[in-house]
Amino acid sequence: MKLLLHICCARCVIYPLERLKTNYEVIGYYFNPNIHPTTEYILRGEALKSYLEKEKIPLLIGEYNPRIHLEIALDSLENRCESCYLLRLKETVRKAKDLGIDYFSTTLLVSPYQNHTRIKEIGEELAKEEDIKFYYEDFRIGWHSSQRIADELNIYKQKYCGCIFSEYERFERKVKRFTSLG
Ligand code: SF4
Repeated sequence: MKLLLHICCARCVIYPLERLKTNYEVIGYYFNPNIHPTTEYILRGEALKSYLEKEKIPLLIGEYNPRIHLEIALDSLENRCESCYLLRLKETVRKAKDLGIDYFSTTLLVSPYQNHTRIKEIGEELAKEEDIKFYYEDFRIGWHSSQRIADELNIYKQKYCGCIFSEYERFERKVKRFTSLG
């Protein structure tokens, strides 16, 4: 059985892939127009590409147009993460259907920093609407081991979730210190 796995980055794919590859023929899908700036998107993508090459897992790369994400994020900044999950999972479903793949899932389910419940609900809603199977597992149990392995393999470690707003939040205190000097 084939499964299209939406992947946010190399560090997050380690544990889900370990779990999935025993029962599924996994195909990775890097579709993350939320990542800002473009150089960061490429860095994360390159790290993923080289990890999956070692694991012998095929990787498809989706369109990168940051405007798609910015438009939906600016529409409702407070709910931007939900729109971001939906954007990425909807495209994953579209791609899976195009390729005749029966299952889809996402590495977003490994992160303790994301809204796990909403990701699960969105996956299930899309599965129902689009008549495709969503593979759900609470991968968060493997978060720490994934991070440890990623450190050992010296895999690129990002400092923020992805979008320009998450980058700002990550460095907000620094920015405030800096602007108070002016
Ligand atoms: S914080 Fe992360 S999940 Fe939320 S909108 Fe930004 S990139 Fe997407």
